[in-house]
Amino acid sequence: MRPIAILGAVVVAFLPLVAGTYGTTLLNYVGMSALVALGLVLLTGVGGLTSFGQAAVVGLGAYATAWLSAQGYSPWLGLLLALALTGGITALLGAATLRLGGHLLPLSTIAWGLALFFLFGNLEMLGQHNGMADIPPVRILGFALLSPAACFYLIWLLLGACLLLCANLLDSRQGRAIRSLRGGTAMAESLGIDTFRVRLVVFVIAGLLAGLSGWLLAHVQRFISPTAFDVSQGIEYLFMAMLGGAGHIMGAVLGAAVVTFARDALQDLLPHVMANSGPVEIIVFSALFILVVQFARGGLIPAVSRLLPARKPAPIADAPPLKRRPPPAPGTPILSVRDAEKRFGGLLAVNRVGFDLAAGEILGLIGPNGAGKSTMFNLITGALPPTGGRITFLGEDITGARARRIAALGMARTFQHVRLRPTMTALENVMLGTHLRTHAGTLRGALRLDRAEEAMARAEALRQLDRVGLAEDAHLQAGNLALGRQRVLEVARALAADPVLIVLDEPAAGLRKLEKDALAALLRQLRAEGMTILLVEHDMDFVMGLVDRIVVMDFGTRLAEGPPAAIRADPAVQEAYLGGVA
Ligand code: ADP
Ligand code: MG
Repeated sequence: MRPIAILGAVVVAFLPLVAGTYGTTLLNYVGMSALVALGLVLLTGVGGLTSFGQAAVVGLGAYATAWLSAQGYSPWLGLLLALALTGGITALLGAATLRLGGHLLPLSTIAWGLALFFLFGNLEMLGQHNGMADIPPVRILGFALLSPAACFYLIWLLLGACLLLCANLLDSRQGRAIRSLRGGTAMAESLGIDTFRVRLVVFVIAGLLAGLSGWLLAHVQRFISPTAFDVSQGIEYLFMAMLGGAGHIMGAVLGAAVVTFARDALQDLLPHVMANSGPVEIIVFSALFILVVQFARGGLIPAVSRLLPARKPAPIADAPPLKRRPPPAPGTPILSVRDAEKRFGGLLAVNRVGFDLAAGEILGLIGPNGAGKSTMFNLITGALPPTGGRITFLGEDITGARARRIAALGMARTFQHVRLRPTMTALENVMLGTHLRTHAGTLRGALRLDRAEEAMARAEALRQLDRVGLAEDAHLQAGNLALGRQRVLEVARALAADPVLIVLDEPAAGLRKLEKDALAALLRQLRAEGMTILLVEHDMDFVMGLVDRIVVMDFGTRLAEGPPAAIRADPAVQEAYLGGVA
């Protein structure tokens, strides 16, 4: 743990002694809200999925334990029920809604948030709009946690534990998968990450944290009513996560503290200024929200952490290598494309194209803009299903297979427009490539039981960075690298998957001459090491000196195939490619 975290924990432990009863009560609300906001940091800030319905999940946890306690059972059993219910229901809601794209997902969270809210207010066994009172306090070894200070230690211990687990999780295989979700799923899926499952996992984790908060709320407040769980409260939780810094787990605590204390101050202040202060409170918070969105979109934590000394990256220890797949003997057929066809409405983007690729070869697929190269690329890598033909990879029929399955068979790809996670380090981006070669799940990551495997993944990532000449940049944020280096970083990420075949889409696009030369040298070196490469490229000069064989496409069809010299001399190719100028 970082010294600053230990210092923070010690300071927190002394807070009730100085804060007084009222201050401690406020701090308890900070802690309970921070649990919900922590879930939203993971879900929204890190995973990019917005939920407005989180307050309803808190209510689910609170009502579960309140109801069970009213039957005379221990609050600890109530905790189990609260977690089972929030975990189960968020899993169901997630399974039903997480495939929705765009604005539909946030909208659906409002819908089920409202539905649960009305359920709380109308069920007779939950006290309808009056809520439930006389909820018993939590007991530990016969000692009832009645005073705010006693509750404080329970709340903040649980919060501390959850912060630690979440920090561990984000720094693990599954955490990297969560961090890869933002900005489209194509990249993650191409690395073998089941993005739907990862979204579901974060959604349930956020649900469990909200459920835990609800359980605490019920036994600390000792009464609950539906108003605490409506959608406006859900928006406030989201605001806390955003205000603190949606990508940082400590932002949850900071955001919860700022909002809780600000609201308290407003409630003290406003009645002196005007009679009906309720709506003004909402206006003040809305204004704050707009200010944050305008001026500090990253939240407060990035601003605060600039003041702290930068954390020195730990040196990367050597570790045993990850398991490798047996490489095919040079010359064995690897990929075969037969009569591949892709129709977009009336447009035949790929029209019965076929070619073969053998181990150890570099094949160039070239053609003028709009020839259908990228579409062909997408058919091979599983990003798009073909409308006809057959594609075989390592003897397996992969026609219309998902990108994830094709990746698992040993095909790795890069993107025409580089897709890296700019705020993750170069090393972490390459570690994403090892996803299919490692196995640690969410729990193992959160409990730090994955360290041996993590060390292997880290050492492997560094080896691949070294292989492409980026070892020096391992700890830099990927977004800060020049485009040429980002391209090469994508190659390293692809290599980290231990592929049999690497498919690159226009790797030379946008590169300067020196960067192109370096990339060509790298690809030659990889071929010398036995790698098979399929290069989809517009830039004829880049391809000519590099590849063993060329397939030319034009208007969706295969125009020619042969060694570079023959292709260069082919009048049909010159006609199509250079518009007859050459
Ligand atoms: P290239 O990569 O060779 O420049 P593309 O494969 O991107 O060519 O495009 C081939 C043709 O297919 C173009 O006419 C393009 O407009 C069309 N096309 C590509 N993708 C789609 C799509 N998703 N929907 C409709 N048309 C598409
Ligand atoms: Mg293209």
